[in-house]
Amino acid sequence: MMQLKDPSLFRQQAYINGIWSDADTGETLPVTNPATGEILGTVPLMGTTETRRAIVAANDAWKAWRSKTAKERGAVLRKWNDLMLANADDLALIMTLEQGKPLAESRGEITYAASFIEWFAEEGKRAGGDTIPSTSPNNRIVVIKEPIGVCAAITPWNFPAAMITRKVGPALAAGCPMVLKPAESTPFSALALAVLAERAGVPVGVFSVVTGAARVIGAEMTSNPIVRKVTFTGSTGVGRLLMEQCAPTIKKLSLELGGNAPFIVFDDADLDAAVEGAMASKYRNAGQTCVCANRLYVQAGVYDAFAAKLVAAVAKLKVGDGQQEGVTQGPLIDQKAVEKVEQHIADALSKGARILSGGKRHALGHSFFEPTILADVTSDMVVAREETFGPMAPLFRFTTDDEVVAMANDTEFGLASYFYSRDIGRIWRVAEALESGIVGINTGLISTEVAPFGGVKQSGLGREGSKYGIEDYQVIKYLCMGGI
Ligand code: ADP
Repeated sequence: MMQLKDPSLFRQQAYINGIWSDADTGETLPVTNPATGEILGTVPLMGTTETRRAIVAANDAWKAWRSKTAKERGAVLRKWNDLMLANADDLALIMTLEQGKPLAESRGEITYAASFIEWFAEEGKRAGGDTIPSTSPNNRIVVIKEPIGVCAAITPWNFPAAMITRKVGPALAAGCPMVLKPAESTPFSALALAVLAERAGVPVGVFSVVTGAARVIGAEMTSNPIVRKVTFTGSTGVGRLLMEQCAPTIKKLSLELGGNAPFIVFDDADLDAAVEGAMASKYRNAGQTCVCANRLYVQAGVYDAFAAKLVAAVAKLKVGDGQQEGVTQGPLIDQKAVEKVEQHIADALSKGARILSGGKRHALGHSFFEPTILADVTSDMVVAREETFGPMAPLFRFTTDDEVVAMANDTEFGLASYFYSRDIGRIWRVAEALESGIVGINTGLISTEVAPFGGVKQSGLGREGSKYGIEDYQVIKYLCMGGI
């Protein structure tokens, strides 16, 4: 069914303590191709006991893993990176089949996903501590950094590989084992990564993948006292719940949650560049990324010109099965996702917005949706407050800088923002005034393994990627050496 060069990358079992396993109950969960509705296969429907087994195995494996030098751990990670790149075609095909994104995007994600493993393979060697001048001549103060311990990760379906590697990479590099629960809709990408981790020489127990019932697995991960850290990417609602569940055992948390990214086009912007950025930021992955432009604010003087150029660019998008050549927008992940986009559009239209492009389900059926642009969108519409997570660009109009900064910040989220301007003074003022963890200035693409990704406000805690990303998996120990 799946035309893989290496069919052994497609696994329908979970990977616990180095053993490819079924659920204790024998139950399974089906996984569907969103472009066709076809069932691709099943994964084990696991729960508390399997999760506990993976956590105990991780703890057992921890001592030997942390005792290795950073260079030795780096060598294993490096091999994993190389295997991911060598198998990029297969990994991309698995991703497109279960997630729907165009094959070219899947390939891009595999390279991006591998880059986190490569980066942290190197960064582990540099994640050292400090010495601090002492207040006493008889003391010396040394700060060492140690791996926090067993980590648990819960990841989403929109980036089935990269959201895993940017957690597992720094965890393993820092000397921590990790137990992962991938999203129910995209477990095969995670399991293929586990096959390659095993081949790369990641020791038994250091990386396990548990598939199945999110709530049950999540409950064990957040309550088990062995787990010292939980890292999650997903919705703010689930993030809040996991934080609550972690409170009794005071676990360290990294949370990459929802966004509501403003994308601002000022009068002095290069409009063609702004359209190109908006296309990349809004329609990549069919609008299903947490840094997707969710609200496009366009200054009155260029509103009509920008809208016309955006309509022309959107007309060139090709919707279809991600496996087909030339397709630039795949299906949404499921019907629920389609309904949310429909609700946002219906609400906006009922309050006076106009459709410039698309606006409805695509003729291809399933969960395909037309790339959509709405004009005359205002702050009282649902799209102003909630993340659409679909291929719909709402165009708001503004007149002054202060007005647009206030509107951009009028949200509980603070992940990414974008703006286009050529005025250096305005660029600094606006970049500093925006309440978000990431600001794209004259660009719609901000993700890279070398820069810190993360939000402020209710978009989350911690940073992923960059030299900061490994700190989330370390604890600081202060050694006070007296009697000198
Ligand atoms: P999305 O809306 O993008 O699917 P979610 O936050 O629902 O975002 O899902 C992200 C990840 O969180 C998935 O792996 C999902 O299985 C998991 N998840 C959802 N609900 C829970 C829960 N109650 N406890 C633990 N994990 C959960």
